[in-house]
Amino acid sequence: MKNEQMNLEHLWMPFSANRDFKSKPRLMNAANGLYYQKPDGSPVLDGTAGLWCCNAGHGHEKIVTAIQEQAAKMDFGPSFQLGHPLAFKAAERLLKLAPSDAFQYAFFTNSGSEAVDTALKISMAYQQHIGHTEKTMIIGRERAYHGVGFGGITAGGLPSNKKYFTLLPGFDHICHTHDLEHNAFSKGEPSWGKHLADDLERVIEKHGADKIAAFITEPVAGSTGILVPPKGYLKRIREICDTHNILLIFDEVITGFGRLGTPFAAQYFDVEPDMITCAKGLTSGTVPMGAVMVKTEIYDAFQQGDAKAIDLFHGYTYSAHPLAAAAALAAIDVYSEDGLIDRAADMASYWEDAMHSLRGVGSIIDIRTIGLMAGIEMEARDGKVGARGYDVFTDAFHEQDLLIRITGDTVALSPPLIIEKEHIDQIVEILRKIIPNH
Ligand code: PLP
Repeated sequence: MKNEQMNLEHLWMPFSANRDFKSKPRLMNAANGLYYQKPDGSPVLDGTAGLWCCNAGHGHEKIVTAIQEQAAKMDFGPSFQLGHPLAFKAAERLLKLAPSDAFQYAFFTNSGSEAVDTALKISMAYQQHIGHTEKTMIIGRERAYHGVGFGGITAGGLPSNKKYFTLLPGFDHICHTHDLEHNAFSKGEPSWGKHLADDLERVIEKHGADKIAAFITEPVAGSTGILVPPKGYLKRIREICDTHNILLIFDEVITGFGRLGTPFAAQYFDVEPDMITCAKGLTSGTVPMGAVMVKTEIYDAFQQGDAKAIDLFHGYTYSAHPLAAAAALAAIDVYSEDGLIDRAADMASYWEDAMHSLRGVGSIIDIRTIGLMAGIEMEARDGKVGARGYDVFTDAFHEQDLLIRITGDTVALSPPLIIEKEHIDQIVEILRKIIPNH
C-alpha cells in the first residue's frame, strides 16, 4: 500500500517525533532474515535487530511455526492460580541460560519495563521477608535506561524520561562511566574507570547500608549510547553489594540472548548478579515477553507461612501468555540449534575492526564496541544535541535503505546475530558516506 493512501494521523507513536514522521513517513511492512521491506518493495538492511530484539533475524521458520501452532491450540490461559505447560517449560528452558544453577526461578512479564518494576518490587519484598525491614531504597546509575514504568524511570538516569513526571521516593544514583577524555575509541572494556564503582560506596555511606535493598544496572548501558563498563568495574560493584547485603540486579533487556557472544552479559563479565531482567531477544522480538530470573534463596524467602496464601501480590494478565511462551521456547532453541550465540562471539572482532575503521570520519568523536554492539558518537551540531543524529538516521533510512538507531548523536548498532561480514561492510560504508554530509 502506498503511503499516500494511508491515514497516519491517529496513531500516537512512542518515543517519536510524530509531526515530522507524518510529514515524511518511514514505513516497513515485511521482514525476512536480515532485511525489512518498505511498502514499495525495497529491502532495508536491519542494523538494529528491530529494536535490539530480533537476535535470530526476521521470520525464522521455527519460531513462526511455534507461534502459529500455539495460536490454533490454546489462545490464552489465565495466569493467576492457573497454568499451562508451556509457561513452566519456558521458565525451565530460560533458566538453563542463566549464569549458574543458583538461578532456579523465573517470573514472566510482557516487556522489559515490567521486568524491571517486577525486579524492584521483588527486591524490596525480599528484604522485608528476611527481616531487613528498613532496606527499602533502590540505587541506580546516571544515564541508565530501565524502561518507562515509574520504577524504571526513577531508577533510570535519563533526564528527558523523568521530566514532567512525579518520581518515586527512596531512589538515588551513582555516577555513570562515560569519559571521553580517558576512554575515547576504546575497543571492548575501557582500561580506565574501575574506581568509578566506588561511587556506590559514597551513596551507601550517604543513606546507610541498612536502608538499601538493591542496586540495579545495565551491564552495558545500551539506550544511552552503548557505554561499556571499564575493566573490573562490575566485579567491584559485586564486591560492594556483597559487603553491604545489597541485592545486585543486572538489567539485561539488551545484553541478553547472545548480544555479547554469551547467553547473558553476566557470563561475559564473569559477574553473577542476584536477579536478571530480560525481554526483547527472549522471543527474538516476535511476541512481547519479559522475565526476571531470580536466585533460589530469593524465591524461598517468599515461600513461608500459609501455603494457600498468595506469596507475591504482583503479576500480569498476560504473564507467560501461551503465544509468548511458545515463541520463547522456539527462540531459545534456535539460538542453540543455529549456534547463534557462538556466532556472535566469532563475529565480534570483525565487527569491532570494521566499526573502528570509521575513526576520523566526519564529526565522529568516539567509537565504542563490545560483542555485536557499537556506539558511534558524533559531535553535537551547533550545540543542538540530537539534531545531527536525527539527520543521519533519516538519511540512512530514506536514501540508503539502512536501519540504524540513534540516541542523541550516537549511532547505536546491534544487528541480528545472523549478520555476515558483507553486511557489516555495507553498514560501515554507508555510514562512511553519509556521516560527513551532516
Ligand atoms: N531495560 C533496558 C536495559 C532496556 O534497554 C529497555 C528497552 O530498551 C527496557 C528496560 C525496557 O524494555 P521495554 O521497552 O520492553 O519495556
